[in-house]
Amino acid sequence: MAEKKTFYITTPIYYPSGNPHIGHCYSTLACDAIARMKRMQGYDVMFSTGTDEHGQKIEKKAQELGVTPKAYVDDIVANFKRLWSTMGIQYDRYVRTTDDYHIKTVQNMFEKLYKDGYIYKSEYKGKYCTPCESFWTESQLVDGKCPDCGREVTEASEEAYFFKLSEFGPRLKELLLDPEKNFLEPKSRVNEMINNFIEPGLQDLCVSRTSVKWGIPVTFDKGHYVYVWMDALTNYISLLGFMNDTYDDYEKYWPADMHVMAKEIVRFHSLIWPAFLMALGEPLPKKIYGHGWITFGDGGKMSKSKGNVIDPFVLCERYGVDALRYHLLREMVFGSDCPYSNEQMFARINSDLANDLGNLVSRTVAMAIKYFDGKLPVEKEFTDADNDLLEQLDALPAFVGETFETMRFSEGLAKIFSVIARANKYIDENEPWKLAKDDSAKPRLAAVLYNLLDAIRRVAILLAPVMPHTSPKIYEQIGATEENTTWDSASVRHALAADVTVTKGDVLFPRIDIEKEVEELNKLFPAKEEKGKDLEPLKPLTKFDNFAALDLRAVKVLSCEKVEKSDKLLKFKVDDGFGERQVLSGIAKYYKPEDLIGKTLAMIVNLEPRKMMGLESNGMILSVKYGDGYRVVEFDDSVLPGSDIS
Ligand SMILES: [Zn+2]
Repeated sequence: MAEKKTFYITTPIYYPSGNPHIGHCYSTLACDAIARMKRMQGYDVMFSTGTDEHGQKIEKKAQELGVTPKAYVDDIVANFKRLWSTMGIQYDRYVRTTDDYHIKTVQNMFEKLYKDGYIYKSEYKGKYCTPCESFWTESQLVDGKCPDCGREVTEASEEAYFFKLSEFGPRLKELLLDPEKNFLEPKSRVNEMINNFIEPGLQDLCVSRTSVKWGIPVTFDKGHYVYVWMDALTNYISLLGFMNDTYDDYEKYWPADMHVMAKEIVRFHSLIWPAFLMALGEPLPKKIYGHGWITFGDGGKMSKSKGNVIDPFVLCERYGVDALRYHLLREMVFGSDCPYSNEQMFARINSDLANDLGNLVSRTVAMAIKYFDGKLPVEKEFTDADNDLLEQLDALPAFVGETFETMRFSEGLAKIFSVIARANKYIDENEPWKLAKDDSAKPRLAAVLYNLLDAIRRVAILLAPVMPHTSPKIYEQIGATEENTTWDSASVRHALAADVTVTKGDVLFPRIDIEKEVEELNKLFPAKEEKGKDLEPLKPLTKFDNFAALDLRAVKVLSCEKVEKSDKLLKFKVDDGFGERQVLSGIAKYYKPEDLIGKTLAMIVNLEPRKMMGLESNGMILSVKYGDGYRVVEFDDSVLPGSDIS
């Protein structure tokens, strides 16, 4: 037997600087639907997703929370995996850039590219904020100042390694314009890449830093850490075992058939990634698909007051994961942004899923039970009146297959539902309830119901990649079996058993009372205004040990003064019950120093010392956000310094 053909499809790896939201869902959902279809078509599929876990933002978030970066990402990654499981995403491999095998690949690749002369050492120049120890690009600055602390920044430079991206312009242009390959979809992006990036001349790419330490160490130069894209993009081959011993699938699956991503990272995938592979002398991925964004309400903002709450966990729980999957894939036109609103989704569920599909199934099954006790007779009378429906069904599988695998789900699904509408019309044309009154018309009645059941079978197969939980429920009701629900069998007319037995099942998609449901969601997620302005979203669950590791105490303020040249920082001497210590806090705008002296405050006393404005801070005074400022958390005089807070 010939070996199965392989198919490798990837989502981007997501940056876990916050919890996953509906914006993360589309790429993953699209890949899952394609992967499922390819598996049904008999391919040996590798579908990968993962998380890009290094970098400054994560380092800082973790620092703010007082946990290690790894502990921080572990929690968020658990939430990503929980979302994918909730949404029925069947990935084959989940890569984390903190995984040992990935680190190995990146280090080996970096060494090889250095030895081969594609990576060289030079200087990274940028804007530097000394207290924050951070480099910023011009575009990251806020009013020309540090976006984190608002202080002045200075020109600075540090040693860094660079990849010779500038050498690859002509080859990348040739790749993007190759009419055989159609490397990048949508094609509208090709000119943008060429005119905006390649023609003006590609800049060499910074691939290591010394100031960002949460990263993969460069093996041959201590203090250097691999920076962003060389780490992140490499996931697509590290997870197959390229230059590592953990996996052994590189020969089998590479090059990838499809890299799928949202539009903002198309540039990195269509220029930097192929250039890395060209430098390594490895084959290039076959296709890159950049889809639009899911946007919300006016100007893309979520409007909680309009009941526009988009927590995918809540949507899946209340309306079913298949309804959400269907809605997102049906709504997004490839290449364009897709506005999302709960109202639209409810309308879509009611019209397509409850009315058209749900009714077709329930009416047909009910009639088969009513007129034939659920088991169709073998004797049937087919007529020319059946041809139109059958021909539409015959044309469907090829069209759906082609649209799905080119990310045109919207077109493919619209076509499936036009055939579902055709089947509903077929009921009205043939009026089974009239045929049932005439005993001599039984064979015709049997043929009409059989045509309908078989039509349902064929559309349910084609919908299975998008609605993997619904199709099996339909198969059960219409008496379809494993053999007549394969992808290929969707092309076969009348594959259901001639004497098929149907079973009444639950309603597939209950109708939604749109107004009432929007109100319910509003109750679940009150508009922000009602709760107070600009509350930060809640952080993900954390382990009890993370809390227990913090030592929280009451401390008494012995002295307090402003820090010179800082409009933000106050310097405290506090009594922690065991001795005196110095601590800094960024609350100078909200308190006069003398007002704080003598107060008993809440403090984390076991944070590692930090330097701010050249002064050491031993701990963190706790404050609560209050209006536009902060208030310290304080106790009355009866609380002794050093008292444990738990
Ligand atoms: Zn700063």
